[in-house]
Amino acid sequence: MGPQGSGKGTQAARVAQALAIPAISTGDIFRANIKGDTELGRLARSFSDRGELVPDEVTNSMVRDRLAQDDAAGGFLLDGYPRNAAQVVELDAILAEHGVALDGVVELEVAEEELLERLARRAEVEGRSDDTPEGIRRRLAVYHEQTAPLAQAYAERGIHAKVAGSGDLDVITSAVLEAVASLQD
Ligand code: ADP
Repeated sequence: MGPQGSGKGTQAARVAQALAIPAISTGDIFRANIKGDTELGRLARSFSDRGELVPDEVTNSMVRDRLAQDDAAGGFLLDGYPRNAAQVVELDAILAEHGVALDGVVELEVAEEELLERLARRAEVEGRSDDTPEGIRRRLAVYHEQTAPLAQAYAERGIHAKVAGSGDLDVITSAVLEAVASLQD
């Protein structure tokens, strides 16, 4: 977990590689579909360009299909999902069907000011169609309203840890790996 610009995608790739499991990013899957101009991509774009969440039925069934693929059988890392309370419920159901459960939920913490700086820089470098000032503002608001509260639910299950997301990339990766290891014990 972590707000836009917290480094989730960067750390997800590094942590997944260290654990030899796939990193599954709903944002990346949507972006690949947008790029390929698929039906799913056109639908996703109409929401993501406004900084809104793609409807749960669409996102949930996409995650369900992805988690059924062979490479997820030995474990996986989810980046950008679940993002609201309904997705938490659906993820629990999907995992129960596979006879597995989440080992841990790691939340990357970065000060709001630094987030905004990073996102402004990313907008210049990557030119993502949703990184407009309005899109960024809306995504941060949606994160605070709908996603941040999920940390509490996972903390109550004893599977949530916070990691500082500023500073050296390697140090952050090590801290995430340590948090995952301690949550698994
Ligand atoms: P960011 O880099 O801003 O954190 P992502 O790359 O994770 O954003 O996602 C980009 C967009 O894809 C989101 O703004 C949203 O529209 C859509 N999206 C990604 N994950 C989800 C999700 N779990 N539920 C609904 N929409 C999602």
